Amino acid sequence: MIFDAHCDVLMKLWLNRTLSFYDSKELHVTLQSLMNINSKVQCFAIYVPERVPEEIRFTAALEMVDLFFEKIVARFPNVKFVQSKADISALADDEIGAMLTLEGCEAIGTNLIKLKTLLRLGVMSVGLTWNWANAVADGAWEKRGAGLTQFGKEVIQQLNEMKRWTDVSHLSEKAFWDVMEIAQFPIASHSNAYLLCPHPRNLRDEQIQAIIRKNGMIGLSFVPYFLSENAEQAAVLDVLRHLEHVCSLGGSRHVGFGSDFDGIETTAAGLENARGYENLINELQKRYSETDVEQFLFRNFYEHLPQ
Ligand SMILES: [Zn+2]
Repeated sequence: MIFDAHCDVLMKLWLNRTLSFYDSKELHVTLQSLMNINSKVQCFAIYVPERVPEEIRFTAALEMVDLFFEKIVARFPNVKFVQSKADISALADDEIGAMLTLEGCEAIGTNLIKLKTLLRLGVMSVGLTWNWANAVADGAWEKRGAGLTQFGKEVIQQLNEMKRWTDVSHLSEKAFWDVMEIAQFPIASHSNAYLLCPHPRNLRDEQIQAIIRKNGMIGLSFVPYFLSENAEQAAVLDVLRHLEHVCSLGGSRHVGFGSDFDGIETTAAGLENARGYENLINELQKRYSETDVEQFLFRNFYEHLPQ
């Protein structure tokens, strides 16, 4: 069983309405590949590309919610919309849970009602920024490197209240630390270890430790340039290096995977699409106990769901 905390299939389905989620060659994550790897929960991020004009971003987000239900959940009887641990444990062996998440609060502008609407539609995790600044905080590439805004604090209070994950992936370092002070359910859905690969999207050891202290989760991504400084040579074993590092910091029950499939142009060797999980599982089984492998692949994220 696998719980993958991040993919960008919805964006691709939104950009090209002719794609089929079942088996499109243009998608890294398809229903066929998820069935092949015995996936149990796949998170689907609503990500509105930055070039979309501000005034239609929320509409774009709603269109992605619509595609999620029309082209993924309603079309296939073995895909079920999940919003809680109870929903996930109710899944039959051949059923896959589809979870809705948001990547970047650009879609809500400065409007808390828009956020609450998305949460009521079933968004279970909210990434505060993409790489630039927005009304909530600064992203990892924003030179200014500012922290959370007052509105950002209100966003997190809302997430705490409605028991949803606050996703710190993509945040500036300052914003990360501001978030850690108030978020009750922090995760980094798709980030790796900075010590092994110094990229601004990765987490420093102190950040990894802070997430662990807050009983949060880190989803290791398969993004070549977050895995290795020699991104062209990134491969399955690099994921293992990052995993081992998080474990060495005490994170063996706070680490899982958030592939970022369909959000990346290039892929790591052996992880060309969701079926690459088979290669990762093979390597995990060589190094870790059955219990550990199950925790990394599925249980850690599952157990840390806020509801
Ligand atoms: Zn991302």
